[in-house]
Amino acid sequence: MTTELKSVLLIGGAGFLGLHLIEQFSKLSPGTSIHVFDVRPLPEKLSTYFTFDPSSIKFHQGDLTSEKDVSDAIIESQCQVIVHSASPMHGLPQEIYEKVNIKGTQNLIKIAKQHSSIVKALVYTSSAGVIFNGQNIKNADESWPYPEVHMDGYNETKAIAETAVMEANSPELLTVCLRPAGIFGPGDRQLVPGLRASAKLGQSKYQLGDNNNLFDWTYVGNVADSHVLAAQKILDPNYADKIGGETFFITNDAPTYF
Ligand code: NAD
Repeated sequence: MTTELKSVLLIGGAGFLGLHLIEQFSKLSPGTSIHVFDVRPLPEKLSTYFTFDPSSIKFHQGDLTSEKDVSDAIIESQCQVIVHSASPMHGLPQEIYEKVNIKGTQNLIKIAKQHSSIVKALVYTSSAGVIFNGQNIKNADESWPYPEVHMDGYNETKAIAETAVMEANSPELLTVCLRPAGIFGPGDRQLVPGLRASAKLGQSKYQLGDNNNLFDWTYVGNVADSHVLAAQKILDPNYADKIGGETFFITNDAPTYF
């Protein structure tokens, strides 16, 4: 029987995916107290797309790399499950990825384990990019190894963080990782703005394969749904053994042209 999810802490919950996590937890897990932890505040004005009541969300401003900030948020939220979807954006210096993705994730695991009487599980937002090195990928599944050389510092540090989360899986802290590919949908700040900026600069010459490659752009609502499902199932003893310590690609089912 699924343990009732009384409280969830969404780390990076003020971001693009984060707002959709709030929306989907509100819809699919009514009765769960939703706490957001982020370095930046929730937007003052939400898009009319969202239906959740912002006054029902408890916000904790803090930095994932701070032991005190994370510890305070766990104690205040009394969260059984932490969903960690914080990450710096693409195109930043390597040390920022190392600080947030690697050290921040290690910090979170350590503090969550120290509060094992409160926190039971951790859901980590990884990325499909962890197996990408710039070459064609066909029929990949979760058994594919990481490449020897990652595409960039973002993907390399996401892979290191993902490994740390999977290895942390234990009876005291159950963990599961999710790997979406490029996420699109309301509130996107990277994908469509990035494509538009590249097109304006005439930087659309980069090509993989013969220009017929497919890519799993994934709708943000589906990505958020998968996180709610993971948070619910990881607390279910019938599933915890099967998904604990595992990582899963999240796709839209029907790939689109890259
Ligand atoms: P986003 O930048 O919109 O959201 C990330 C949030 O993390 C931001 O609100 C940011 O303030 C917060 N954050 C960053 N550093 C922090 C820190 N040190 N402490 C606390 N909060 C911090 O990004 P997004 O597109 O919503 O991505 C969410 C997650 O999904 C990330 O982990 C990203 O790697 C992953 N992902 C995104 C895509 C995509 O196409 N957007 C694809 C695959 C995976």
